[in-house]
Amino acid sequence: MTSTQAFWLAGRQETGEDTLDVTSPWDGRTVGTVSIPTDAQIEEAVAAAHAVKDELAATPAHVRAAALDHVTRQIAARAEEIARLISAENGKPMKWARGEVGRAVSTFRFATEETRRWGGGEGQRLDTDPGGTGRLAFSRRFPYGPVLGIAPFNFPLNLCAHKVAPALAVGAPIILKPAPATPLTALLLGELLSETDLPAGSWSVLTVPNDRMPDLTEDDRLPIISFTGSDRVGYAIQEAVPGKRVTLELGGNGAAVVLGDYASEADLDHAAQRIGAFANYQAGQSCISVQRVIADASVYERLVPKVVAAVEAQVNGDPSDDATDVGPMVSEDAAKRLESWVDEAVGAGARLLTGGKRDGASYAPTVLTDVPTDVKISCEEAFGPVVTLQRADGEEAAFAAVNDSKYGLQAGVFTHDVQSAFRAQRKLEVGGVIVGDVPSYRADQMPYGGVKRSGVGREGVRYAMQDYTYEKVMVFTGL
Ligand code: NAD
Repeated sequence: MTSTQAFWLAGRQETGEDTLDVTSPWDGRTVGTVSIPTDAQIEEAVAAAHAVKDELAATPAHVRAAALDHVTRQIAARAEEIARLISAENGKPMKWARGEVGRAVSTFRFATEETRRWGGGEGQRLDTDPGGTGRLAFSRRFPYGPVLGIAPFNFPLNLCAHKVAPALAVGAPIILKPAPATPLTALLLGELLSETDLPAGSWSVLTVPNDRMPDLTEDDRLPIISFTGSDRVGYAIQEAVPGKRVTLELGGNGAAVVLGDYASEADLDHAAQRIGAFANYQAGQSCISVQRVIADASVYERLVPKVVAAVEAQVNGDPSDDATDVGPMVSEDAAKRLESWVDEAVGAGARLLTGGKRDGASYAPTVLTDVPTDVKISCEEAFGPVVTLQRADGEEAAFAAVNDSKYGLQAGVFTHDVQSAFRAQRKLEVGGVIVGDVPSYRADQMPYGGVKRSGVGREGVRYAMQDYTYEKVMVFTGL
């Protein structure tokens, strides 16, 4: 029997009245039990964040940087333990869980560095116009106020890091709300934050059930909501809180384009190997995993068997095993939903080249061709280990196929042609184009986010810091 784990309320551990069990998607065992805050405890966390906002904004940068540096070092020091926890509650294979921990170390490290650089302000001379004679402007960025960070299940540590690190870097309190399937890693992050010298109330990690989330999202004392999750939930939140600043990092049905110049055996082997791996990493449960492959007609027939071979080479199994590439999906319900989508596509004429089998929450890596464009696996976010392949006659048709989606997060373009790469950047309706690789690349020095139904706003530490703050100008006169 596991003991009930407390949540973090204004930097200290508390328990409520109800609990939630966290189960392994791989074998159904109970990995942990977490306590759920009461309404009064949620209110206390919000009030504490509101009360401390001026103090935290005025806390010296070296203090905030030291706190972020401590978290960076502790994540690195406890990397294996944290990776095991991610793997246990999420079902993520250890190789990917270790990668996620490494990413979180980088996220906190960038935030530490940015804290030291951030907020010095800049001057603007005004005497370039007659009305500005004798005047000088000086502008600095200030936090809007406490941030409500809402995270999904698929990266239980790193997507929490993307909320917490930039908030503390700009001196904004944060209330972090992890996904119900994966709260344990977020609570461990709370333990690391509790070892820092940040003012009480600067941060909370609250395991709030979805039906009580309006208590947080609709509270005016939390002017910024940074949400990562599905477009359905994200836009519903945005509609419910007009006037709030809401950053939405949502889903996608990521495309990888293989253009006609990417045609040697080595080129196609490379593209196929990357597609095989990144259609299936995190069991396809990444917002930028490869869901659609659009290949030029001149290379399509040679590419298809290579992709099938690369997908079949993925080792499917126990996530705690170092050799496993593909673990279970987050739940049996999620795998059943995916199974029904593949069945729908096959019923509508798609060809199943490999996979298509479910065992509990595990879905075998699957390749489909000849998929009608109006079935769910083509136009919705699959969020599972399925990739579809389609042919396109030339670059223009390939780019049009990428854009034939309500989503626009990232796209990969396999080409050697620099002109094609720049055309891709201009024409593709996405937030990021990865040239020479799959769309599944994200780094925290660069802006990350989508267009269309994939969201608004940008993450990447510095870009999130901008989103959490506003510019305020001060004008000196009589100079
Ligand atoms: P989800 O939308 O079901 O849940 C996301 C979070 O919102 C969870 O913490 C959940 O508890 C919370 N939530 C649910 N209902 C809520 C409500 N009414 N009010 C406030 N919060 C509520 O998403 P998920 O299934 O956990 O994650 C998968 C989705 O996340 C996919 O669509 C994926 O593409 C997306 N995602 C996007 C990015 C990105 O950066 N663009 C990264 C990872 C995942």
